[in-house]
Amino acid sequence: MAVKKSMPGCAGYSRATRAAVLATLALAAGAAAQKSPETLLLKDYRPVPIHKIPVTEVPKAKYPAVDMHTHVYAKTPEEVAEWVKTMDAAGTEKTIVLTGATGERFDALQRIYAKFPDRFDLWCGIDRSRAGQPDFAETAVRELERCFRAGARGVGEISDKGSGIFRGADGARIHPDDPRLDPIWRKCGELNLPVNIHVADPIWAYGPMDETNDGLMNAFKWRLDDKPDIVKFEGMMEILERTVKRHPGTIFIACHLANLDFDLTRLGRLLDTYPNLYVDVSARFGELASTPRASAKFLIQYAGRVMYGTDQGRMERVYRRSFRILETLDEHFYYIDGFNYHWNLSGLGLPDPVLKQIYRDTALRLIARTPRP
Ligand SMILES: [Zn+2]
Repeated sequence: MAVKKSMPGCAGYSRATRAAVLATLALAAGAAAQKSPETLLLKDYRPVPIHKIPVTEVPKAKYPAVDMHTHVYAKTPEEVAEWVKTMDAAGTEKTIVLTGATGERFDALQRIYAKFPDRFDLWCGIDRSRAGQPDFAETAVRELERCFRAGARGVGEISDKGSGIFRGADGARIHPDDPRLDPIWRKCGELNLPVNIHVADPIWAYGPMDETNDGLMNAFKWRLDDKPDIVKFEGMMEILERTVKRHPGTIFIACHLANLDFDLTRLGRLLDTYPNLYVDVSARFGELASTPRASAKFLIQYAGRVMYGTDQGRMERVYRRSFRILETLDEHFYYIDGFNYHWNLSGLGLPDPVLKQIYRDTALRLIARTPRP
């Protein structure tokens, strides 16, 4: 109405002309409400692909999947049952829950997940209650054996982003290669308990937080560049290598592709050198899908050492996104919300035998090594 009033003589135009003028004015008003590229923030950028190319929905994994990397996303038996429904819809046969728990907390979780013994394996943590005390390792080994008897099928997630797994009584940080942990890693080898280990973080978290940072969206959120007293990326890679090398009888799964998704040649060299080292792809789908050809080449070559994992909650969309990235040749799509990347992504289109290995065979081979007590 306001528009009409401000248009003297408008009544003299034909109905069609009037509609056209009104539409133009509405467009102009909309444009004014839009942000100028001069003020639009990178975090608000939500590009919509324009390409007339296939968009493939993959509701279910091509082969029954073993999800090697989740956490306690269900806290009651009812939530566990809901999760199983989502797993059924997604074609996930089995889920590894990295509880990081010991003692009564671990036992309580076993009870919560007890109704579905074939669908979930719970992995325990390391008892750190005596960290820094002379009987630390002895106590931790005893609790590890107890958790194993109570049903733990592995250990994890053991996380060190540079400030240590935990601190000793003296306040000093204990990294995975600390000799004080040797008896624990050795015991994991004896019991055939694989260890899921998270070392360092994505490389851009260490870089300058400026316009040159290729992963700025996530880098800023997870930034490490402002923590001067941590062990930096290279130091953490050395710690990982020393740990894996010193315990050849223990299986280590460096999760998130050991944060070497940006240098898969280097990751391949590590896998070539240490047969007890494995990796999972959890929470690195965006990274893999930003370099689909290099990623596919790596995964085809190392499928026997790489395992599927999610690490992003138990929502159906988490599974679907991961399947689309691994299975399809879709191009130029975005998963900004939830993944928080502003890169455009492309599917890897992995061949069937490779998908089967990564989704299940490699994991099942590993799992089968751990006998039920
Ligand atoms: Zn995790």
